[in-house]
Amino acid sequence: MRSTTELLQQGLQTYGLDVGKTDQLLTFAELLLEKNQVMNLTAITDPVDVAQLHLLDCAAVLTMADLKGKSVIDVGTGAGFPGMPLQILEPTAKLTLLDSLNKRIGFLQEVCDTLGLHTTRCVHGRAEEYARNHREKFDYATSRAVAALNVLCELALPMVKVGGAFLAMKSVDCDEELRQAKSAIAQLGGSVEAVRDYTIPGTDVRHRLVIIRKVKPTPVTFPRAFARIKKNPLI
Ligand code: SAM
Repeated sequence: MRSTTELLQQGLQTYGLDVGKTDQLLTFAELLLEKNQVMNLTAITDPVDVAQLHLLDCAAVLTMADLKGKSVIDVGTGAGFPGMPLQILEPTAKLTLLDSLNKRIGFLQEVCDTLGLHTTRCVHGRAEEYARNHREKFDYATSRAVAALNVLCELALPMVKVGGAFLAMKSVDCDEELRQAKSAIAQLGGSVEAVRDYTIPGTDVRHRLVIIRKVKPTPVTFPRAFARIKKNPLI
């Protein structure tokens, strides 16, 4: 059986990404599994699964969007997905990792300190509140496993500059979710540019990246307070 290192290297090679970042990615994975013993960070605990279902899954984003030198906010980053692998693999990107759970942000700050990722900003906050002072400040927003697309777009799109994009990592069976979010996306100033399915190298797992271009400013009435978003999601 191939080692985690080999699987990760092969996966990065398949994507055409920098294989030289393997050690940094593995250090992140080790720190994640170590901290996971005392803090709820991930349900995935096998190192091979972490390499494939977390690291390579997130790395796929870089095959579909060029984040070089771009400002990126990862909304609901949790234990750093997809933001941390993106930052490791694309060090020129200016990543902000945002989460409403402070202990997860504390963990991510420790990872940044250990890996020498000095430009990464680890921010404790709720997206709908952070958006108030960061309207249209980012070239890209990213997110995985945070909320249904209509809700998620209200959290993320207000922070994206016109001309930028929201990269939403979703499952391949999100067609209905996408259909239900069409009107919300338009109301928020977005437009679905592409829906790209990919297979995680070394697995049969297929996931999807939904690329939502910001085509006009988001009306200042969005985002609303979370209680209102939840009670009356945009339809
Ligand atoms: N994105 C990570 C991943 O794919 O592994 C974490 C997913 S976890 C299921 C959802 C995360 O979103 C949690 O860490 C939660 O604290 C965060 N979250 C939920 N709503 C949020 C909001 N409005 N603003 C910021 N973070 C939020």
